[in-house]
Amino acid sequence: MTPLPTASIDQFKAQFRGELVVPASAGYDNARQIWNAMIDRRPALIARCKTAADVVQAVNFGRQHALLVSVRGGGHNIAGNAVCDDGLMIDLSPMKNVKVDPKARKAAVEPGCTLADFDAAAQAHGLATPLGINSTTGVAGLTLGGGFGWLSRKHGMSVDNLVSADVVTAEGRQMHASETENADLFWGLRGGGGNFGIVTRFEFQLHAVGPNVLSGLIVFPFAQAKTVLTRFARFTETMPDELAVWMFTRKAPPLPFLPENAHGKEIIALALCYAGDPAQGEKLIAPLRGFGTAHGEHIGVQPYTAWQQAFDGLLTPGARNYWKSHNFTQLGEGAIDAIIQYAGKLPSPHCEIFVGTIGGCTTRAAPDAMAYSSRDAKYVLNVHGRWDSAAEDKRCIAWAREFFAKTQPFASGGAYINFLTQDEAERVEFAYGGVYQRLAALKKKFDPTNFFRMNQNIKPA
Ligand SMILES: Cc1cc2nc3c(=O)[nH]c(=O)nc-3n(C[C@H](O)[C@H](O)[C@H](O)COP(=O)(O)OP(=O)(O)OC[C@H]3O[C@@H](n4cnc5c(N)ncnc54)[C@H](O)[C@@H]3O)c2cc1C
Repeated sequence: MTPLPTASIDQFKAQFRGELVVPASAGYDNARQIWNAMIDRRPALIARCKTAADVVQAVNFGRQHALLVSVRGGGHNIAGNAVCDDGLMIDLSPMKNVKVDPKARKAAVEPGCTLADFDAAAQAHGLATPLGINSTTGVAGLTLGGGFGWLSRKHGMSVDNLVSADVVTAEGRQMHASETENADLFWGLRGGGGNFGIVTRFEFQLHAVGPNVLSGLIVFPFAQAKTVLTRFARFTETMPDELAVWMFTRKAPPLPFLPENAHGKEIIALALCYAGDPAQGEKLIAPLRGFGTAHGEHIGVQPYTAWQQAFDGLLTPGARNYWKSHNFTQLGEGAIDAIIQYAGKLPSPHCEIFVGTIGGCTTRAAPDAMAYSSRDAKYVLNVHGRWDSAAEDKRCIAWAREFFAKTQPFASGGAYINFLTQDEAERVEFAYGGVYQRLAALKKKFDPTNFFRMNQNIKPA
């Protein structure tokens, strides 16, 4: 790595309110570390921004020195695009302010916020917007790629709830984007990933949620997988929008409500959340218990913020991760059989296969209403390869790829860009489907030199 000239860094530092971290700094290794331990890159400079003005300066510095630039929000992206080798990492994680206007049901959220930061601030007023299911994920990357979680069937994708955004463009210009101001940029931001600029402030629509929700898990023995999955597929096709039921299969962690002889064995679990009156939810979820003879369940009325953190323990940073993902409009027998076959040969006790059920409100916008265009997706399958040591890389990656190929014939068009790994650049155009050309034209307008290219990259037309 060629070190950057000290004089240029000193000049940068003079007006920068945040922190500049170089390879010799004490906090360097910590600052370049992201969620996926497979990614080990060494930027020449890390600009830990505190303000939008810092972001403008960082972008200008990167451009003036022709540096490769990466942008970090929550640092969760599996492809590792938040960090680059030899270039400038613009780290937004110190920008953590959330301002809720309970009357207008709107929130202004800075790009370093995690889902936990946002949920906590909004739930203080009994409000929330759809976000993901792991509270340490960044609001920024999740939203810019689409964003879905327990509330999405009722209230749509995270991008459907984005009202406006403040952006720093590749030229270092600050712009405001909404349906009425710079509407083309706003269209691209809502699903276009980090391709069009750095968002320094997101404005979201909020909804009344909880603060307590009926939620939890029912866990079935793997031997009943075929029946449970077939019933799950049928049930989820017609359930009301308020109800979300997801499926995951993995080796059982030692959860206290499971019999000891199930610990470490393959299981089929249903995870659910009802975003409405818990008594009504109880009636609706009753049939799930009849999908098989469960090992056990842990369902109750609990704070929405607690349910949002329920999976954090299984998704801690520091493990090696390789994901593959398909969208489905329907879960038919072929896909179900493939899930069972590959869940039967998990290469590590941390690997899992999950099916996130979206649909409902996520399917109601037109496919070209914004950059996120997979409006036909009702299920998002994630092959979640996860393991501890580099020695397991080959085996675990091969398992994920094989399973992905096996389920491909049953998948629909499009893919979720937030689940693409670093070796899937060729799937970006497929992921965007019919809106890709429009995105490429927009990229040419706002970033003709492809300055923002450490992302699921849309090439300027
Ligand atoms: C454990 C785990 C659970 C997940 N669960 C869900 C889920 O339930 N639902 C779901 O929808 N997704 C989920 N995801 C996927 C998640 O949406 C993506 O990984 C997302 O990219 C994470 O955003 P981040 O800010 O944390 O990531 P980062 O790695 O920091 O950022 C990802 C990319 O987004 C861009 N970016 C980030 N911030 C900005 C900004 N302010 N302006 C412009 N570009 C920016 C950059 O290109 C960056 O490379 C999950 C991921 C993990 C690891």
